[in-house]
Amino acid sequence: MYELKNVTKRYTRGKESVHALDGVDLVIGDGDRLVIQGPTGGGKSTLLQMLGGLDRPTSGEVVLDGIDLAKLSEARLTRVRSENIGFVFQSFNLIPTLTAQENVETALVPLGIKVKERRELAADALTSVGLGERLGHLPSEMSGGQQQRVAIARALVKKPKVLLADEPTGNLDESTRDEIMDVLERLWKEHGLTFVMVTHDSTLAKKAPRVATIRKGKITVKENAGA
Ligand code: ADP
Ligand code: MG
Repeated sequence: MYELKNVTKRYTRGKESVHALDGVDLVIGDGDRLVIQGPTGGGKSTLLQMLGGLDRPTSGEVVLDGIDLAKLSEARLTRVRSENIGFVFQSFNLIPTLTAQENVETALVPLGIKVKERRELAADALTSVGLGERLGHLPSEMSGGQQQRVAIARALVKKPKVLLADEPTGNLDESTRDEIMDVLERLWKEHGLTFVMVTHDSTLAKKAPRVATIRKGKITVKENAGA
């Protein structure tokens, strides 16, 4: 589980300083599902970067299962990240020269899994997002929705404890958005995965047990009794 304690993140550019996060306290239990909403520039992506150990807070603690990510060395942080945390971003971030299967396999390389098993696990993950017939396709040979499904498979193939998604449908047209939301909703319902998603999609927000809103770096969390 996560415990964020008085997390601040300040970006300084020249003389200007932005408080992207301003004293955020947040607990996310194992298997929790949290939707994050709020205006552009409010600090949503910054919060996800802190949760994912992609960046460090200016002050405060980001504790994952008893370990303060802010204090880890770069090497240990990378390890914690590759073992425990899956990311899905708005941009798919696939490697253009690799096939779907090879892109998914990249998540398993740091874990020291042998080639043959890597291939099988990647094929299984792609099948689970409906791309079992597209293993050998390059990103350029797939639609935006298919590319995002490859990215989801890549995030899930290592069976992470935590899945972090930052506006995963933000770059997609409406019909593709539904396709990806269906895949994410299926994951969302599956038990066990801690799932934090920044989204403006109200369907999922209604189903989320908790919805956090971030404005000007400050967070408020609402319990959703109906979910
Ligand atoms: P959101 O995801 O809610 O749109 P962000 O977390 O991306 O918001 O940004 C929060 C604030 O921090 C914004 O004012 C943004 O301009 C600023 N910011 C984010 N990343 C950087 C950065 N790398 N350098 C400088 N300022 C940044
Ligand atoms: Mg953002």
